[in-house]
Amino acid sequence: MSDELPYMENEDGEFAIPCQLKISAECVQQGEFCEGKEEAREWVEDEFWIFSGEGYFCMQCNEQVLRNISNIKPKNMI
Ligand SMILES: [Zn+2]
Repeated sequence: MSDELPYMENEDGEFAIPCQLKISAECVQQGEFCEGKEEAREWVEDEFWIFSGEGYFCMQCNEQVLRNISNIKPKNMI
């Protein structure tokens, strides 16, 4: 696993993983700040965030993506 994920760092030197998409109105924007990158990553995985290969996005945005996909589905497929 590479360590190239986008992390946010606060004034206390804690890390959080931002949501990559931020397309949902209910998007949580970022994970909780944790002591280390490893813990920040565990936090989002505990919340069932989706790993995209370059970063993570939250469940709310995942649902929004799925809604968008169903909206653009051609009508003749139904
Ligand atoms: Zn999100």
